Amino acid sequence: MSKRIVVLGAGESGTGAAVLAQKQGFEVFVSDMSLIQEKYKKKLDNKNIPWEEGHHTEELILNADEVIKSPGIPNNAPLILKINERHIPIISEIEFAGRYTNAKMICITGSNGKTTTTSLIYHIFKSAGLNVGLAGNIGKSLALQVAECDYDYYVIELSSFQLDNMYDFRANIAVLMNITPDHLDRYGNKMQNYVDAKFRIIRNQTEEDAFVYWNDDPIIQHELHKYGIHARLCPFSAVKEQGVKAYAENHKIYFTEPMAFNMEQEELALTGTHNLYNSLAAGISANLAGIRKDCIRIALSDFKGVEHRLEKVARIRGVDFVNDSKATNVNSCWYALQSMTAKTILILGGKDKGNDYTEIQHLVKEKCRGLVYLGLHNEKLHAYFDSLGLPVADVQSMADAVKAAYSMAEKGDTVLLSPCCASFDLFKSYEDRGNQFKQYVKSL
Ligand code: ADP
Repeated sequence: MSKRIVVLGAGESGTGAAVLAQKQGFEVFVSDMSLIQEKYKKKLDNKNIPWEEGHHTEELILNADEVIKSPGIPNNAPLILKINERHIPIISEIEFAGRYTNAKMICITGSNGKTTTTSLIYHIFKSAGLNVGLAGNIGKSLALQVAECDYDYYVIELSSFQLDNMYDFRANIAVLMNITPDHLDRYGNKMQNYVDAKFRIIRNQTEEDAFVYWNDDPIIQHELHKYGIHARLCPFSAVKEQGVKAYAENHKIYFTEPMAFNMEQEELALTGTHNLYNSLAAGISANLAGIRKDCIRIALSDFKGVEHRLEKVARIRGVDFVNDSKATNVNSCWYALQSMTAKTILILGGKDKGNDYTEIQHLVKEKCRGLVYLGLHNEKLHAYFDSLGLPVADVQSMADAVKAAYSMAEKGDTVLLSPCCASFDLFKSYEDRGNQFKQYVKSL
């Protein structure tokens, strides 16, 4: 009898996992608590894969030999606890897909900068003519690509939730951008649990692999020695430090190995300190993969950026509008504020994930002309920022947020949407929040 695989959650990753599982000859069943999007139902139906939506039928799930869980389902969900009680192994879609390909894996994690760095690495590999797929939190599911394509490389964005259920997967190049508090509500409010999840990216790495990380991250530095690392260490830094494999000095950025080369910092397509880190990490990864230096230089300078990340929207009567809707934690807002060169009206708020705003208080004081609190529950924002004495507005819709911010702005100012929070109180997603922002800005 063939092994039974149950896939929980029929989004991009779950549907891909189901298709791959069926191709590998397993008996497959897909179950989703919510409604499944039409395109995924169609894909499952085309392959005759049975599915259910709106509920979980336990008899059809608890008889699984292995469960592939969507990273969106928390580990303490009642069904997951029952699966654990029966000792049925739970793995992620990436873990599953990794079993069926020999492609080289370049995996990127961190609290911030994952999507930007992943997209940039993909852009460099693609520009160099490599046969490469983009997967993980962005692009198509890894499992689906393993089932339907034949790539030599995958560039994969990994959230901590995906890493949670990875065991034997091996990253040939692992990139850890930084670690700052995020999603603590999913980690029992214990920072160490979150840190351990991030460091799972180096599990199973051998001396043939590489571990790329930000050398100046205090948490990474502090934790590094705890995990037995076999991979070649490839730290990067904004300054020249002992042992770093990429750094900036005198307006140039340097890569030291395997191929030593440099380029002008101002040629980098992405600006701001945080993006310097992203460019360094991407450059090292490409260098490790043996891509020619000229190719790396060109690709680092002609990259178009990623939507909703410090995206310039418009200048309206002298006021610039910047969409950083993807800033869903306090640290990413810190970097956004830090890169502001004009007085800023900051729109922030949303679904709080246990935020501590102390980190940005001084920057808000230094850079902001006014604050717009956009959320169903703005009490915490009032508590942290009202004492700064800046004009504040309380709003519950993007239309009102844009109006309020515009009326506070003076010519030459920047209105920055960099919310520090998830979007689910008022919006469908951070994309919806960013798109609404752009729409209302353009109709001013
Ligand atoms: P992620 O995928 O990890 O959420 P993104 O690349 O989507 O990261 O960027 C999200 C936001 O985080 C950006 O809008 C920017 O403000 C900030 N950011 C980007 N790169 C970094 C970095 N290396 N360090 C800190 N913050 C960053």
